[in-house]
Amino acid sequence: TAMVLREPASRKVIVKAVDSSKSVASSKAKKGEWSPSSWRAKEAKQIPIYLDQEALEEVERELSKSAPLVFAGEVRTLSEQLALASQGKTFVLFGGDCAESFDEFSVNHIQDTFRVILQMSLILTHGGSKPVVKIGRMAGQFAKPRSSSTETIDGVTLPSYQGDNINQESPFTAEARMANPRRMVEAYDQCTQTLNILRAFSSGGYANLSRLHAWTLDFVEGTPAGSKYRKLASVVEESLRFMNAIGVDLESPTMQKVDFYTAHECLLLQYEEAMTRIDSTSGKYYDTSAHLLWVGERTRQPGFAHFEFVRGLENPLGVKISDKASPEDVLEILNTFNPDNIPGRVTLITRMTAEGIRTKLPAIIKAVQKEDKNVVWVSDPVHGNGFQAENGYKTRSFDDIRDELVAFFDVHRECGSHAGGIHLEMTGKDVTECIGGDTNAVTMEGERGLASKYETHCDPRLNASQSIELAFCVAEKLRE
Ligand code: PEP
Ligand code: MN
Repeated sequence: TAMVLREPASRKVIVKAVDSSKSVASSKAKKGEWSPSSWRAKEAKQIPIYLDQEALEEVERELSKSAPLVFAGEVRTLSEQLALASQGKTFVLFGGDCAESFDEFSVNHIQDTFRVILQMSLILTHGGSKPVVKIGRMAGQFAKPRSSSTETIDGVTLPSYQGDNINQESPFTAEARMANPRRMVEAYDQCTQTLNILRAFSSGGYANLSRLHAWTLDFVEGTPAGSKYRKLASVVEESLRFMNAIGVDLESPTMQKVDFYTAHECLLLQYEEAMTRIDSTSGKYYDTSAHLLWVGERTRQPGFAHFEFVRGLENPLGVKISDKASPEDVLEILNTFNPDNIPGRVTLITRMTAEGIRTKLPAIIKAVQKEDKNVVWVSDPVHGNGFQAENGYKTRSFDDIRDELVAFFDVHRECGSHAGGIHLEMTGKDVTECIGGDTNAVTMEGERGLASKYETHCDPRLNASQSIELAFCVAEKLRE
């Protein structure tokens, strides 16, 4: 059920509302001096400098009065699902673009990614015999952390592109690369459309289990992944007919609808603060820009602004963990974000290559186990595996991605912890951004094929066939 969210008119009012509420006052004491704006007193990495402060404040006011994108009740349901994932009872699938963009926006694009996620989730449910929690990197995944704050082309140095809600990638001019606060409003508007489409597809009959075959995209149909999916869909359909024959109601809501959640990197804190509201039911703060927010590998440092902002949110939190994180770093994250050790509150998203997983992850898992900490372990097998192809394209290899996933499952099995989910940059589009996989090995001729449909605004994505093929690999590991 949708919650009615109080919408404070200004930041000052938010603080007042907290002080006047008993339950919030006690959680405030526990959380130190936290407020939706307390991050402003800390050093912030990766946040752009806005030259026009007045325009920025105007946008913040506008956004803080806008409708919430997600509702507290939905967020609580996701938290419950994640709690089950921490116990190995559900499996989490995150998927979507590296960066959403204004010019790639279309209903078809959203529909295609959504249907590939449905296909993958059928494959994973069948493999793991447990429910799959579906989370899109969608309806908010705009702002990008960059390894360098500037880019130089032909001797000209300008700010790096930071995502469509911050600045414009091309043309490569000072004007385009200047951080423009109005882009936050444009991004918000696109999010409302995206969510409207996602909500309609989730509950309007499209996700009905009787449509398993209809989810396949035309260009996937003839590929090895496509035919493997078709066979699985037929097997599932046969089981459904059997269940129907013995009296299971195939028209019941569980058969016709899916729960679909959204998540993005919590990077642009001005936007996130403006979307943060007190839920009238619980009196607690929810960032209503997405169900789950994660902190990236580049901004998760204790004492800095991002760390400060997310710790006070009720939303479940994700944290990216590379091979640079020590067991002590991870424990500090868990102690700060989850002092009450609530299952499902924190998802650790490891991204450290197959070798990193095998050499570094066991010590982290053991430290977490020793302290009896509740964690959802998720693998992001893509961010540790980027490289530049000889023809200059940023790419990833299907084999490296699969190897990291295999290592992730192996290590968790050895340590007796639950491999709780996967986090992928993928799209339903027929792009050529990652190399390898059964279909691409034939059609792309390796790196030379990258140029033909390379469309990403940031990192390379698995295309639909690669995503489905990878889901089958994961299903196999889930079955072991
Ligand atoms: C991302 O998920 O797009 C990302 C930037 O990840 P990371 O912080 O792990 O590099
Ligand atoms: Mn990325």
